[in-house]
This record gives sequence, structure tokens and C-alpha cells, in this order.
Amino acid sequence: MQGFRALPSVDQVLTAPEGLALVAEYGRLAVVTAIRARLEIAREKIRGGADGAALAAGLPREVAEDLAIAARSGLRPVLNLTGTMLHTNLGRAILAGEAVRAATVAMANPLALEFDLAGGGRGQRDDHLRGLLRELTAAEDATIVNNNAAAVLIALNTLAEGREAIVSRGELIEIGGAFRMPDIMARAGAKLVEIGTTNRTHPRDYENAIGSETGVILKVHTSNYRIEGFTAEVPAPQLAAIARKAGVPLLNDLGSGSLVDLSAFGLRREPTVEEAVAEGADLVTFSGDKLLGGPQAGFIVGRKDLIAAINRNPLKRAVRLDKIRIAALEATLKLYRDPDRLAERLPTLRFLARPEAEIAAQAARLAPAVDTLLAPHGFSAAACPCKSQVGSGALPVDTIPSAGLRLAGTGGDAPDRLSARLRALSVPVIGHIRDGALVLDLRCLDRDDALLEALAAL
Ligand SMILES: *Cc1c(COP(=O)(O)O)cnc(C)c1O
Repeated sequence: MQGFRALPSVDQVLTAPEGLALVAEYGRLAVVTAIRARLEIAREKIRGGADGAALAAGLPREVAEDLAIAARSGLRPVLNLTGTMLHTNLGRAILAGEAVRAATVAMANPLALEFDLAGGGRGQRDDHLRGLLRELTAAEDATIVNNNAAAVLIALNTLAEGREAIVSRGELIEIGGAFRMPDIMARAGAKLVEIGTTNRTHPRDYENAIGSETGVILKVHTSNYRIEGFTAEVPAPQLAAIARKAGVPLLNDLGSGSLVDLSAFGLRREPTVEEAVAEGADLVTFSGDKLLGGPQAGFIVGRKDLIAAINRNPLKRAVRLDKIRIAALEATLKLYRDPDRLAERLPTLRFLARPEAEIAAQAARLAPAVDTLLAPHGFSAAACPCKSQVGSGALPVDTIPSAGLRLAGTGGDAPDRLSARLRALSVPVIGHIRDGALVLDLRCLDRDDALLEALAAL
């Protein structure tokens, strides 16, 4: 019983100086709850024979730690050193400063979202982006929804509900999770008409499939895989001609889509959105947070009458964007008006544009310091070459030469053990395991200090 009497009361902990400081930081209710929980654990330990006085002495510190952990958000920033620049599980693109500021203003203020300041009447939320999208893609019109999955869903539903949607067997892709083209078509109410084979689809396959029930021809960018060898697909301009002749709209889902030619960054030449529009697609869909470098969003650009039909679809309200993202998108798209400075201002392109030699120099600079930080824990660090990829399904087989740190230790489970410890840091460091070591690709590391500070907490 002596043990229990050594424990303080809730009130004693609460009114001690440490307790008052915790109340000021976290609020009374949270602190009382944390003290009660710790006292309960202490009583349990005393029943098991532990020393009450020692438990009482450690209690304020434990309560403070519990509160700090509870306050720490699961959404806290991490260092993405995975080598995948647009990592879907790490939130894809990080925004340009201009976009962050615009979003912050939108969050904290009422704004003319659907309000025509000139006339005082009702406005359209998409109007803030329509002009910019038309300018940047040379499309007749544009509409914006929650993400590209929603863009494909609402476009298919508008064009082909209760009718047929023709698509090549080579393009019936799964993007990941539950996003599979055939399932999206079914949910859109369209009847899937598969044509061609996995590796080859010809113009006559499309021509033979078109009939009175056809609502749309869908072309899907096979963004996350590539078929090589004996292959044939119908080039977009030719497919557009077939669609036009039959009077059927052609929807081209570009997936990532880019507003600039990425071959300048050493990536494979892919049609830009503007080129996809020029090739004759009636509608083109693409993502806001992949290579475009903005917040999550889905864009649909193309024929005015079809965009108007999409905007009349009741689904539009269910997949519309909020003011915060509209503000961030407007600021992001405006950066594209100045292509010369784009790679400086847009983080996605800045990371993509970093020369291998610059990253290798960073790796050489950081290796000794990181090695020193890891040595007491039984791990070593050395600079190494590695390969980055874009991620989010964009350009799956293309890699970009990069450099990083190879972190090694003894024992087959060393990379997993180290990986778990780096994930547990207050700024988690996320790498990827390759050839028995944990590799940190430095392409997306803006500041050396950020890594050193994070690892110092080991
Ligand atoms: C990524 C992708 C999608 C889905 O886009 P989200 O913006 O993630 O919703 C759809 N189609 C293709 C071809 C894609 O690459």
C-alpha cells in the first residue's frame, strides 16, 4: 500500500508548474485525461511490485511525452528520398510558393468564388481557370473536377451512359487501387466494347466496332506500363479522323498530361495536352497533381458543346473543386505563362531538371556527415549513383540518372531495421531498399540541413 500513497493526485500534477505549462499548451481536458491514463498504468505497475516513488517522479515527463505524441499529426512532413518524385502515397506534387500563398489567402478569406464582381451577379467557379486552360492548351473550353479519375468518370457518363464505349484491349489499364478502366466504365453506365488484342489494335478494329449504339471512343494513355515488341496502336490523329467520320466523340485520357515538352528534361517525348488537343481528340483529360505540379484536380478540355454537357451533368456538383484548390491551381497555371522561369518556380520541374552532377556533388558532401550520425547505431553511409523516376504512373519505364546515399549495416534485416527507424523520426526519412541496402535518392532534397537535422534525432 505504501506504493500507492507515493502517487500524486490528478490535481497535484495539474497544478504543479509543469502541469500548468501543459494545460497552457494542450488544454485542461487533454492534460487531465493523459494524467489519469498514466496514473492507471502506475497503479498497475505498483500492483506488480514496482516502486511507487520512482513512478511518481517519472510521471510528469511521461504525461508530457504522451501529449506531444498525441498532438503530432500523422500528416506531418516527411523527406521523400524514395527516388519517386511524384509519390502517390506521399501526396504527389508539392506546390510552388505562389500556389501555397494563393491557397492560404483562399482559406482565410471570403472570396468571389461564384460571384461576378463586375456585375454583382452569380459567377462560375470554373471561370477562374477556364481562360488559363484554354490559353495553355488551345482547347475551345475546359472544366475542372476533383481528380482525373473523376474527369474520366464524368466524361464517360456524359457521353456514353446507356451506350457503348469502344476501347482497345491494349489500353484497359488498372491505375492502382480500385481504378480499373472496365470498372470505371461500368460505374459510368457505359457498355464496354473491347477491340483489338493486347499488343495490336488496327484502324479497322475501331471502324468495325462503331455502330448506332456507340457513345464514345476512348483512348487511354497506358501510363504505368509499356508493351514492347510486336505491337500496333492507332495513332491519335488517325483515330480522330475515324471518330470524326463516324460522328462519334473521341475522349483521350492522358493520365499525367503535361503542358510543356518534357524531353527537355531528358524524358521520353510525349504529346503535351496542347498537342493531344491538336491531334483531334474531342475531349482530353489529365491530372492536376502529376507532372503539372499542382494540387489534386482533374481537367477536361476540348469541344465547347461537350464541356457544356459535362457541366450540366448532376455528377459535376459531386466532383467539383473547393476554393482552396481553385486558388492554388490558378497560381500554378499562371506560372506556365512564363516557361523560362517555370523550372525554377515549380518544384516538380525543379526536381526533374536537377543535373545528375549537382546531385552527385550533394551526395559526396553529405556522405561523411551522415556516416558519422549513423556509425553509433551500427550503420554506414556512402555516396552512390541511383535512378529516379517520375512516379504516379507517368513514364513508367523511364528513369533519370541521379545520386544518393547507400546506407548499410550488418545482418540481412539491416535495411528493414534502418528503414523502420528512419520512418519513426519526428521528420520521417523515406528511402527505398535496393540490393541489401537502404538508398536515399537526393534528387528531391532541397536543403542538406533538412536531412542532417532529421537524422540527428536518431
Ligand atoms: C493517374 C491516371 C488516372 C487517375 O488520375 P488521378 O488524378 O490519380 O485521379 C487516370 N488515367 C490515367 C491514364 C492515369 O495515368
